[in-house]
Amino acid sequence: MNNSAKIIDAIAFATERHKNQFRKGVGKIPYINHPIAVLMLLSKFGETDTDLLISALLHDVIEDTTKNEQEIKEISEIILEKYGENVLLTVLEVSDNKSLPVEERKRLQVIHTPKLSDRAKKLKIADKISNILDIKNDPPENWSLHRKLTYLDWAKQVVNGAKGLNKHLDQYFDQVYNETYFYLKANC
Ligand code: ZN
Repeated sequence: MNNSAKIIDAIAFATERHKNQFRKGVGKIPYINHPIAVLMLLSKFGETDTDLLISALLHDVIEDTTKNEQEIKEISEIILEKYGENVLLTVLEVSDNKSLPVEERKRLQVIHTPKLSDRAKKLKIADKISNILDIKNDPPENWSLHRKLTYLDWAKQVVNGAKGLNKHLDQYFDQVYNETYFYLKANC
C-alpha cells in the first residue's frame, strides 16, 4: 500500500473499531470524530509522517475498543501486520493501562510523557487539544466547572512534558487552553 492508501485504510479501520461509541458530550458525537480531529490537527501544523498520522487515527483503538489482554494482543497483531511496528509502538505508548485506577493513570501520564517518542509526544498534544475543545464545545453533561478546570490543569501538565518538537502545535495548545480557561470562567 502507498502512504495515502494506508491512511485511508486506517480511517476505515478506526471507524469500524469505534462504530458503536460516542464522545462523552451531550451532543452524542460519534467517537471517530475525535481521532479524525487529532489527525487534522497534526496535518494542519505541518506533520506529514505517515506513521504519525496513522497512529493519530488509531490512538484510542487499543485503550477504548478492547476489554482484556487477549483482545489487546489480537488488535496489536492486526496493527503490526497492517501498519507496521512504528505505528503499533506509538499507539501502545499513548494507551493507558486500564487495569489501573483512573487517578493513577493520570499521574503516570504526567510522569511518562517526557520519556515518550517524538511521535507519541506530538500525538499527546493534539489529543489533549481535541479533548479540551470538546470540553468547551460539547461538554459532558454531568461535569462540574471544577472537574473541567481540573482536566485542563492536568492536560497542561501532561503537555508540558511533550512540548518542544512542533512550535506551532505547542502554541496552539496554549491558545486553546487559555481560550477554554477564560470561556469556562466567564460562563460558570
Ligand atoms: Zn484520544
